[in-house]
Amino acid sequence: MANRPRAIPNLLITGTPGVGKSSISKKLSERTNFTWREVSKLAEEHNCLDEYDPEYQCPFLNEDKLLDIMEGMMAKGGNIVDYHGCDFFPERWFDGVFVIRTNNTTLYDRLTARGYQGKKLEDNVQCEIFETLLEEAQSSYKPEIVQELQNDTEAQLQSNVDTIVEWIERWKEDNL
Ligand code: ADP
Ligand code: MN
Repeated sequence: MANRPRAIPNLLITGTPGVGKSSISKKLSERTNFTWREVSKLAEEHNCLDEYDPEYQCPFLNEDKLLDIMEGMMAKGGNIVDYHGCDFFPERWFDGVFVIRTNNTTLYDRLTARGYQGKKLEDNVQCEIFETLLEEAQSSYKPEIVQELQNDTEAQLQSNVDTIVEWIERWKEDNL
């Protein structure tokens, strides 16, 4: 497919479950005319979830089917893609990749409040400690488009949204 330039960027908001991807994406979509694409919801709506994985207590994602569905959405830019994985998307989709981070104890409390327990809780907290998503993002995208954002407090939530809004404005100026 031709690599046509976009007039407005596509963003990927990634990170361990519970770090605040959806909170940031929602606020960002309210501050901009960008469309929030919550990938888990898209996968559900378009029947891209296969049978349940008993070990991880979540359904398997049919990635190829999901990518086919998303391809058309991504063409014109203006998307905020929100997902706890990032290595299976086409690299060309994204102009900015934001890896949301949260300290371990805060994340533990958020996931417990969400009803996570046992292996699922431990695996997700370890995923954050081991910086799994940061490494995944850095190995899947050019390092200069990957940015980490710490998201422990409400004040940081606001400033992270501001940072991304400013990033969008700068991208538009640089890509006129
Ligand atoms: P994700 O989409 O990454 O799984 P959510 O946006 O659903 O994360 O956030 C998980 C929980 O943490 C929610 O209850 C949300 O209100 C809370 N939360 C998210 N970001 C912050 C923050 N910066 N400060 C305090 N609470 C937050
Ligand atoms: Mn979410």
